[in-house]
Amino acid sequence: MGTDKLYAEVVVDVAVHRVDRPFTYVVPVRYREQVQPGMRVKVPFGRRQEKGYIVGLSHNCPVAGMEIKEIEDIVDEVPVISSELLALARWMAAYYLCPLVEALNCIVPARLRRIKRKDLEERKEEGNGEPLQLPPVLTPPQEEVLAVLRPSLREGRKEVFLLHGVTGSGKTEVYLRAIEEVLAVGRQALVLVPEISLTPQMVERFKNRFGSRVAVWHSALSQKERNDEWLRIFSGRADIVVGARSAVFAPLRKPGLIVIDEEHENTYKQEESPRYHAREVALMRAKLAQCPVILGSATPSLESFRRAETGEYHLLSLPARVDNRPLPRVEIVDLREELKEGNRSVFSRLLQKEMAERLRRGEQIILFLNRRGFSTFVVCRECGLVMKCRRCDVSLTYHAGVNELRCHYCGLRVANPDSCPQCGSRYIRYFGTGTQKIEEEVKRLFPWARVLRMDVDTTSRRGAHEKIINLFREGKADILIGTQMIAKGLDIPAVTLVGVVSADTVLNLPDFRAAERTFQLVTQVAGRAGRGKIPGQVVVQSYNPDHYAIQAVRNHDYHSFYRREMEYRQRMKYPPFTHLLRVVVLGRKEEQVVRGAQFLGAELRLQMEQAGVTGVSLLGPAPAPLQKLKDTYRWQMALKGPEPEELRWLLRRALDVVKEAREMAPVGLQIDMDPMGMI
Ligand code: ADP
Ligand code: ZN
Ligand code: ZN
Repeated sequence: MGTDKLYAEVVVDVAVHRVDRPFTYVVPVRYREQVQPGMRVKVPFGRRQEKGYIVGLSHNCPVAGMEIKEIEDIVDEVPVISSELLALARWMAAYYLCPLVEALNCIVPARLRRIKRKDLEERKEEGNGEPLQLPPVLTPPQEEVLAVLRPSLREGRKEVFLLHGVTGSGKTEVYLRAIEEVLAVGRQALVLVPEISLTPQMVERFKNRFGSRVAVWHSALSQKERNDEWLRIFSGRADIVVGARSAVFAPLRKPGLIVIDEEHENTYKQEESPRYHAREVALMRAKLAQCPVILGSATPSLESFRRAETGEYHLLSLPARVDNRPLPRVEIVDLREELKEGNRSVFSRLLQKEMAERLRRGEQIILFLNRRGFSTFVVCRECGLVMKCRRCDVSLTYHAGVNELRCHYCGLRVANPDSCPQCGSRYIRYFGTGTQKIEEEVKRLFPWARVLRMDVDTTSRRGAHEKIINLFREGKADILIGTQMIAKGLDIPAVTLVGVVSADTVLNLPDFRAAERTFQLVTQVAGRAGRGKIPGQVVVQSYNPDHYAIQAVRNHDYHSFYRREMEYRQRMKYPPFTHLLRVVVLGRKEEQVVRGAQFLGAELRLQMEQAGVTGVSLLGPAPAPLQKLKDTYRWQMALKGPEPEELRWLLRRALDVVKEAREMAPVGLQIDMDPMGMI
């Protein structure tokens, strides 16, 4: 028999693992009519008042014999978390081994204002009056793709489609049409893009087509914009959400389609707790909401393409560009040969010749290098000292103009020394190339060319991205130099030449995804060329010209890349054949970090032995490639095996054993299920 009291299970917003469970509170009589799971509350916790979320209600008292405190205040008049999103948060907490409150905090934006019942009343805005762009006639391949999608969109089937389409094949147009279909049946659409600030053209296309029904969601919104957009979505006034990673939690009530553009992008992975991947969260959300998902990419992640091969996803392809515009011609330059021939410039002779030609014809050029600054390391020629960040133990990058050395990991800036801090010598040399040096080199070779540079250093101000892109699009510059910021979404018809100054920056990273990232990044940058009437050309410079990732870019051959890379992954038992669960051990004192890591590692091995699991292995413990970051030492280990739940189970057991140990007290842990990198 229950009592006549009503109890609420409340997840309290205190971000520590040891209280990762709901607490029970009595619902005061005055709130009994109103209270529902998914509402925010204020509760007494210890000696303080804390905020929390109601995740369950019951008439049975779950903790007998104890005095149970009362909820002090109910923040919202209606639940801000739907039952579907509550289920999603529970899944996240279990999958990513994060406290439930962290998952809930992803769903409800910080400082969201009190939500009233009248906020929920649908007030359709005046969907008209706006001059909206008419859609183009679909090409036959687009029509075929939509014919496959339509039944799923109309009936709300839980199906996943992988749309593999080369750059410029008209994927975005497919998304727009698919959205029209779900709006027509009274449902809503969610579109995820890798980074809003880098894809202004994409957002524009959605607004041109659907006007004020589009809400834009990303982490750089101001508090007021955030509240306004959230309410527009929550109330149904906006029924299309375009946004970055965190938009996967947008409070749409009847999602009928989730689109993930450039599904392979790393930016979908959050690199702080909870370390979720928006693609995986979206797939789960779509399951809960009963709607289809479209994953779009020119270079699908190995994970997704494999699922398409096994039939878990439906594969759709757009193998050619719209209007049969040719894909750009890609030429690979062997930088070793350039050096042999005495060319010490950062530009090969071929790239110089092609640049001169484009400048003469008044066409535009994009130069890509995934490193900013001027020189990437600074060395004393007398004693060999490399200038390093004292907080991160990585080499500092020279930035000209300001004449500073900067750390690209922690932001530390020091004046460029004119003599060696170790031996006093004045012979200091600068090695490596960054975007700043490219700019200088361009100005030296082509003094008349108008040059723009887009990287972290030139885009720190709000709106700077758009400004640079607009200037370039309007033809106010001949050459755009940039880091991976320029790889995405740019659709500028006058660009006929793309130069990849070095394809090796990513290829040489100590990471099992290095080849995949290189193939994706270079293909994507190459895809910026020749999107207009004049065919494009791409020059890729490399010291590893025969590497299969680079050869595959030349031949626009995703499939051969996929097969080679899958062979390697299978041989080494890396994802997508396995899952990884990575643990980074952190601390201020190196010996404590080493001891903590070895202690946890030993316990994990013991647990594996005791449980007799086969097919799971432990990598490490070993120092992380970035061994010291921001004054913090880092060691890591990773469990590797086919079943994610088995890995989590092992780690939970090991952590239960070691959590009180003296060795673990001084260190912190970062737990990362399905890490994107091991650096
Ligand atoms: P993707 O998203 O695959 O890179 P887009 O959707 O951006 O490709 O299409 C490439 C270009 O072709 C864009 O300029 C777009 O406006 C244009 N386009 C797409 N579909 C059509 C169509 N059916 N008719 C005419 N132009 C189209
Ligand atoms: Zn020296
Ligand atoms: Zn640093």
